[in-house]
Amino acid sequence: MAHIQLVGINKVYPNGFHAVHDFSMQIEKGEFIVFVGPSGCGKSTTLRMLAGLEDITSGELYIGGELANEKSPRARGVAMVFQSYALYPHMSVYDNMAFGLTLKGMGKDIIESRVEKTAKILGLTEYLDRKPRELSGGQRQRVAVGRAIIRHVEVFLMDEPLSNLDAKQRVTMRAEITQIHRRIGATTVYVTHDQTEAMTMADRIVVMKDGVAQQIGTPKELYFTPANRFVAGFIGDPPMNFLTCRAVQGAVCLQGGQQRVTLSDVYPLAMAQREGEEMELGFRPENAMPYADAQTANAAVMEGDVTLTEMLGDNVNVYMNVDGQDVILKLSPYEAPSVGQRYRFMVPKDAFFLFNMEDGAVITKG
Ligand code: ATP
Repeated sequence: MAHIQLVGINKVYPNGFHAVHDFSMQIEKGEFIVFVGPSGCGKSTTLRMLAGLEDITSGELYIGGELANEKSPRARGVAMVFQSYALYPHMSVYDNMAFGLTLKGMGKDIIESRVEKTAKILGLTEYLDRKPRELSGGQRQRVAVGRAIIRHVEVFLMDEPLSNLDAKQRVTMRAEITQIHRRIGATTVYVTHDQTEAMTMADRIVVMKDGVAQQIGTPKELYFTPANRFVAGFIGDPPMNFLTCRAVQGAVCLQGGQQRVTLSDVYPLAMAQREGEEMELGFRPENAMPYADAQTANAAVMEGDVTLTEMLGDNVNVYMNVDGQDVILKLSPYEAPSVGQRYRFMVPKDAFFLFNMEDGAVITKG
């Protein structure tokens, strides 16, 4: 049986705003689930409904097989870690972690042993006497996580817990949270707007937009088989390129020019029914490579003008104008062109995606 089950969950705020639409999913015990999407897509609202901090307008929420819609936050057996840490500033790290257990009337010895154990897991042992203001952002974040772990609950809910950290700390804490999850194995639902966090931490990702789950899948599934243009553009960095084009005899012609992109053999059937139709061609920046005469059999060739390059060390982001449309290529620094150059590149035919113009749905191969 699934650990958490959401069945047709809706949230309509008192002002009439419909923030979450018909959300359903099953979360297995021990899974690390990440809700990701742009600001305002409804990810925090969904998390807060799981936590019991927000009423569920309609639909059912089951935790451990029991209907939880009307249960208080405490009775749900969940622990939440907030973006703001919500630490008590006047209390030491020890007391911050112990506080919830003290409220529960737990004995001093048990509390002490739990605090010690939790501090060890999080590398906080030497900071137990300090006040939050005497800690770095990353250390404060660990105390906030510690307060959740110490309760020995089976479900962790985390709302953008790394957003107050600098870029380096975020990378470190990301790995730490993943390792802690491996060690303690609690079912975790984690909210972020950062696709890299989602890709690196999640067992499964839920991509949300305008209160609707667009796709639920493993990082690999979302990257290789996105359900629509939105997911395709949201997952991946730099994002996927989208070029407006028209179907012409099993290939596509780019809008604004004469360039014709031949597609993989798996497309013709779908394309035959769409002759002349406008659609969007997608390919990822990392799938582009320099033009090489000998390799054109399985690749499509395109060219354009280089408008900007960004040297990142291990690769270069090359910004191009291809017949009036913007394209980014991710190339090795040894083969990247310079600004102002007319540049010819290739993309393997099987790396292309096609999307419906109106609704952005993926046009399936075969
Ligand atoms: P962010 O990353 O900015 O926190 P989010 O995806 O977590 O975004 P939510 O906080 O879930 O988004 O909000 C979803 C939508 O619901 C937003 O459009 C927001 O303005 C709206 N909303 C949130 N709280 C309320 C409220 N109390 N009353 C009315 N509308 C609300």
